[in-house]
Amino acid sequence: MERLQLYRLFLIIIFLHFSGAGGYAQNRQTAFPLSAVRLSESPFKAAEQTDLRYMLSLDPNRLLAPFLKEAGLEPKAKSYGNWENTGLDGHIGGHYLSALSNMYAATGDTEVRRRLNYMIDELERCQQRQNGYIGGIPGGNALWKDIAAGKIEAGGFSLNGKWVPWYNLHKLFAGLADAYRIAGVVKAKSMLTGLSNWCLKLVSGLNDVQMQRMLRCEHGGMNEVLAEVAVITGDDRYLQLAKKFSDQMILNPLLQQRDSLTGLHANTQIPKVIGFMRIAALTGNKDWEAAAGFFWQTVVKNRTVSFGGNSVREHFNPVHDFSSMLESREGPETCNSYNMLKLSKLLFLQHLSVTYMDYYERTVYNHILSSQNPEGGFVYFTPIRPGHYRVYSKAQEDFWCCVGSGLENHGKYGELIYTHRGDDLYINLFIPSVLTWKEKGIRLTQETRFPYEETTRFILETKQPERFRLYIRKPGWVRGNMLRLSVNGKMQQVTADSSSYVFIERLWAPGDEVAVRLPMSTEAEQLPDHSSWVSFIHGPVVLAATLDTADITGFYADGSRSGHIASGALLPLQDAPVFVAPVRALKQAIEPVKGQPMQFRIAGTVYPGHYRQLRLVPFYTIHNSRYIVYWPFTSREGLRQKQEQLAIREAASASLERQTIDHVLPGEQQPEADHQFRGQATESGIHNERHWRHATGWFSYDLRNEKKGAKKLRVMYWGADKGRRFDIRVNNVLLAAVVLDGAAGERFTEVDYDLPLSIRTEQPPVLNVKFEAQAGSVAGGIFDLRLMK
Ligand SMILES: [Zn+2]
Repeated sequence: MERLQLYRLFLIIIFLHFSGAGGYAQNRQTAFPLSAVRLSESPFKAAEQTDLRYMLSLDPNRLLAPFLKEAGLEPKAKSYGNWENTGLDGHIGGHYLSALSNMYAATGDTEVRRRLNYMIDELERCQQRQNGYIGGIPGGNALWKDIAAGKIEAGGFSLNGKWVPWYNLHKLFAGLADAYRIAGVVKAKSMLTGLSNWCLKLVSGLNDVQMQRMLRCEHGGMNEVLAEVAVITGDDRYLQLAKKFSDQMILNPLLQQRDSLTGLHANTQIPKVIGFMRIAALTGNKDWEAAAGFFWQTVVKNRTVSFGGNSVREHFNPVHDFSSMLESREGPETCNSYNMLKLSKLLFLQHLSVTYMDYYERTVYNHILSSQNPEGGFVYFTPIRPGHYRVYSKAQEDFWCCVGSGLENHGKYGELIYTHRGDDLYINLFIPSVLTWKEKGIRLTQETRFPYEETTRFILETKQPERFRLYIRKPGWVRGNMLRLSVNGKMQQVTADSSSYVFIERLWAPGDEVAVRLPMSTEAEQLPDHSSWVSFIHGPVVLAATLDTADITGFYADGSRSGHIASGALLPLQDAPVFVAPVRALKQAIEPVKGQPMQFRIAGTVYPGHYRQLRLVPFYTIHNSRYIVYWPFTSREGLRQKQEQLAIREAASASLERQTIDHVLPGEQQPEADHQFRGQATESGIHNERHWRHATGWFSYDLRNEKKGAKKLRVMYWGADKGRRFDIRVNNVLLAAVVLDGAAGERFTEVDYDLPLSIRTEQPPVLNVKFEAQAGSVAGGIFDLRLMK
């Protein structure tokens, strides 16, 4: 009887089920400030410290140089190179403000704080000279003058000939907002307001058509950060401005729950959707909220691989065909996952669905954590191609987008481990840490070696006994009712199914201890296109095998334009290990190694046989090596056929690669930027899942011919394009006067042009290839451009 009363009084465990969608405002969560959470010993803590060292190795004066230069002030040091002095000048400075703010909040490091204050002071000097504006974009003042006057020529990544200026500026907006919100730098608020007022004035004369034309060019999360400014200042004008900065071309199909993302540059779109969601949450716009929810669903369900990433060569691939991603060196980009986590966080705080947190956890462990080398350095592309590898940035040399988002990533692991709703506390992630809930006088210590053990312990310290509910996430990967929970060593009865939190309500006393056991199992997960490729997952942890380091051209990038791509030799696809088993038997194809937690050996039939020796370990622990994260599988009968098919495909692409000196994919952002795209009256788009570019004026690329030996140019057209007359010039010498007559019909065709004799003899190291329309006609569309031996 006494026991029963105790039970009634102090302990009620109820199973809760929350549906995945729908607006449950009563479930709205509040995140703790980053400063309320300190990480304890774990891979996450180690990653935070590695990031901190990288951050401190950067020279703030070099990062500030582009801003000072543009403001007419003397820079105190030379700009960094790579993307920092080729058009995207200053983007890392913006990221740096956010990264320092996160890191200061997460660690309290005083040097980080000193640097943040210094950056802010220096940027303030720049702002005082430029009517509220601060920016590193080269020639920014002239650019913005043209924009304000309505002179707008926008492509996917160029605005009036500048490289994504709003994308660049968004980093600074976000950096100032983070310095104020996260690190409490008071001055950052007035600077942000000044910059926002400059923006407000700049676009005040632009109508919606002009705005939408401008938004064709990648612009980061301008709509999101302006919504944030509205929250910080309480001024509705910025919310209106945020809506004005919302790209209708992306929003409209999403409002109709339509996925028309194939072929689009992935990381251009995700931040826009974060903005839709942010605006929706502030205005109660259910349609925009549903649009953002739909985007999340379709990207996570149909476009995401096991470790949480998406895209190939930065673009969304067809949902029914992941072969391009399997073949490419340029698999999922880290920035995309950085942004998908931001979107997941917003959706989770609004709806408390475990689905969002399952994705968040999967991506944090397997993409984000794995994207930093333990010795320092960030990853751009994580190829899923079997046997390929990743390259890492060098602190003083490489300044890609993924360095910027990388600097931020590893300082904010504490952002969602805990949340609260009123007085109730939620535990979302099983990462060792200490939460200090100041307002309630509560300290909660989480201890675990998860995923190397299945149990996580929570020790509560309160000033006096406190009654509240402690909610614990039951992850989607815990089967049925396998979750076990005890309070002060006493097992509790819980039931649960796949998408839920369990809670305990009691009068908590100092020293109370809760232990939760989360049994993990191994799954074999196919690619979203259901092709015969699997990735093995244990609990939330993606497993992979290391191969060797043969023919790798350096694990660290060299500061060159294409340095972020792992350009070493490819392992032929037909040589990758193949599991010979039906899909339902695949999860038994690997089994745990006794006494070695999180190590797995191959138990099933794998071909060729020598691969039986491979060990699978958590993907996030693999660095400086070739690896396999996706494995082909087949039936016994299918093995031979599969290998023959792969060999034919490989032979064709290997021979093409051998003959290719340089290659541009017109209309794709990074390949164009890497080849110094220039043009006038030119447009790009997608046709039959391939990007194109054409012009009523002209466009050109610089192709590299460093190893020399260029003999011909191969150009891909759409066979049905007709009535188009244009010239192709190489280094100003006429190569061909082209007339497209549509004779080849509805298919892609390739034409080889022999280079002029003078060029074949001279072999200049750079060949400028220019497509110029004849009067009243169109040059292109060009779908593919190769310089060949
Ligand atoms: Zn990136």
